[in-house]
Amino acid sequence: MSDHNQVKITTMDFSGERPKAENPLKIQDLSFRDGHQSLFATRGRTEDMIPVAEMMDEVGFWALETWGGATFDAMHRFLNEDPWERIRTLKRYIKKTRFSMLLRGQNLVGYRNYADDVAKAFVERAAHNGIDIFRTFDALNDYRNFETVVPVIKECGKHFQGCICYSLTERRLGGEVYNLEYYVKKAKELEAMEANSICIKDMAGLMAPYDAYALVKALKDVVSVPLHLHSHFTSGMASMTHLKAVEAGVDILDTCMSPYGFRTSHPALEPLVMTLMGTNRDTGFDIKALAEINEILEKDIIPKYRYLLDETKVSIIDINVLVHQTPGGMLSNLVNQLREMDALDKLDKVYAELPKVRKDLGQVPLVTPMSQIVATQSINNVLFDDEKERYKMITAQVRDLCYGLYGKTPAPVNPEVRKKALKDYPRGEKPITCRPAEVLEPELDKAKEDVKGLAADLEDVLIYALYPVTGKRFLKWKYGKEEPPEKVKPRTLEDVKAEQELIKKALAGKLVEKKEKEVPSKGNNLRKFNVFVDDEYFEVGVEEIGGSPIVSYIQQAQRQMQAQGPVAFAPTAAPQPQAAQPTPEKPAEPAKPVITASKKMESDTQGTPLKSPMPGIIVSYKKQVGDSVNTGEIVVILEAMKMENALPSPAGGIIKSINFASGDPVARNDVLCVIG
Ligand code: MN
Repeated sequence: MSDHNQVKITTMDFSGERPKAENPLKIQDLSFRDGHQSLFATRGRTEDMIPVAEMMDEVGFWALETWGGATFDAMHRFLNEDPWERIRTLKRYIKKTRFSMLLRGQNLVGYRNYADDVAKAFVERAAHNGIDIFRTFDALNDYRNFETVVPVIKECGKHFQGCICYSLTERRLGGEVYNLEYYVKKAKELEAMEANSICIKDMAGLMAPYDAYALVKALKDVVSVPLHLHSHFTSGMASMTHLKAVEAGVDILDTCMSPYGFRTSHPALEPLVMTLMGTNRDTGFDIKALAEINEILEKDIIPKYRYLLDETKVSIIDINVLVHQTPGGMLSNLVNQLREMDALDKLDKVYAELPKVRKDLGQVPLVTPMSQIVATQSINNVLFDDEKERYKMITAQVRDLCYGLYGKTPAPVNPEVRKKALKDYPRGEKPITCRPAEVLEPELDKAKEDVKGLAADLEDVLIYALYPVTGKRFLKWKYGKEEPPEKVKPRTLEDVKAEQELIKKALAGKLVEKKEKEVPSKGNNLRKFNVFVDDEYFEVGVEEIGGSPIVSYIQQAQRQMQAQGPVAFAPTAAPQPQAAQPTPEKPAEPAKPVITASKKMESDTQGTPLKSPMPGIIVSYKKQVGDSVNTGEIVVILEAMKMENALPSPAGGIIKSINFASGDPVARNDVLCVIG
């Protein structure tokens, strides 16, 4: 490595000119994508980027990350925004700075591998609409999953940035899988694919500062294209990691404007600008211009999103990440999932199971969707395995992974687990070794056919092809075929102000607490009584429940009442018809029958119940009432925690009843069907 990149501190004359750095550090800003994705559940709206867009264009960023990752999903699902329109709109304000997007390789901006025809069309449309840099990654670092998209990126004349997902099995860089040799090999693979730059993607904030130094130095020695570091702040190390990476000669860093920085997001830009000022890596950015952008963000934009910040903890870092070398998001999901299952006491067992499952599954990097796959299988093992049998309930995604549908794992999969996972697997019991998308049938023509008459162009079709259910719903909103619900509409600053007023009042003790006691619904047997207390008159509804009469409602008839002290109502009082008697506002409704989950727990049908082992949503029943079934045969597919679980029959016999339908939510222990 030349020492061209080494940091040299030059004495700066602060009263005079700021010398132009010999090799300025380049910065990509992530505020418009990863910033709000990390802090505000990807809910950032295009209209909230416009007020600072032109100013951001003047800063001098290497690129602005504006698209990809979860934005495509969140925009059409939660914001009623056309994802394609965001690129076009921002391009009208940002004319100089390049746009970058996060592309999940063959997963595009979704959560599964799409067919090649969809992948090609997607990349071509993204480039056409204004994406200049395609930051491309694969959850397994299996670059065969880049083979379809990269030629399209190149044909469109765009920048292909190849990513290496940074992962660890030990506390620090090293060990049998994720050592320096591994990363060097991956970087060489990317350079051989003609990557225009290489990014180390530290999505979990696991990279320790001195490991960053060693890694950046090692990679700079073997690759000639620019090296870019993306490190999340989650564990609190990233600012130090950034600085050591700069010292080791990194070319480009990812940061956010400070209101979008820190916590699970990225280090902020402003302290870095100041840190490097006067050195040969000086960014050259105008700190005053950054402050002006910040002021707009703080005053006019961030207040709308503040409610989305996770403020359950005082600490802005997650030290569990340091303890478990596991992404923060994955850990908080684990806790939530266990809580839902009423099994939070098993958390330590799940922590112990995680590394075992990960090892069995080939030491996959813990990035979406692998982190969810490992987490859910670990929970299943802790909850359902016993001394006699491991991997009793294997998720569909683990079966796909064992088949090779995601690609090649960094280390081999445990052959016993693989054999068990692939028993009766629909695509076959022998795993594939080819590029995963080779086994996928083309999908685009069918998608076009499905949304004929609804989709106006290929971009619409792609929204549907990637997200069939929510994508179709969005297209109906877009073309006025369906009214979008209230909740997809933006929050305004006025909404926020009204809320803040309420909070102020509450803090001042001026808000009266609403009674939490629930009023039972009026039944058929309601009888009305007029009750007189001195000059006051009340209409009292009385209904007999289970033998003893109870007071069901009291309607005050006279508005101007004086404090009378406690009043006892006599349900036996005879009603006296009065001229001024108020009539009830509406006739008493018969109480609606409520089917509760607990009702489904006690089944009327004689037989063996198949109970739901966890809360989830019914995907489908594999059997109908009257079908015969063997013990262990799959009866129900249940989606829980984004994973599909195949539930086997606990007994042999005939399906006597099926209690739910596809799409129904179920609670733990609900009887899904009865076998008799
Ligand atoms: Mn990220």
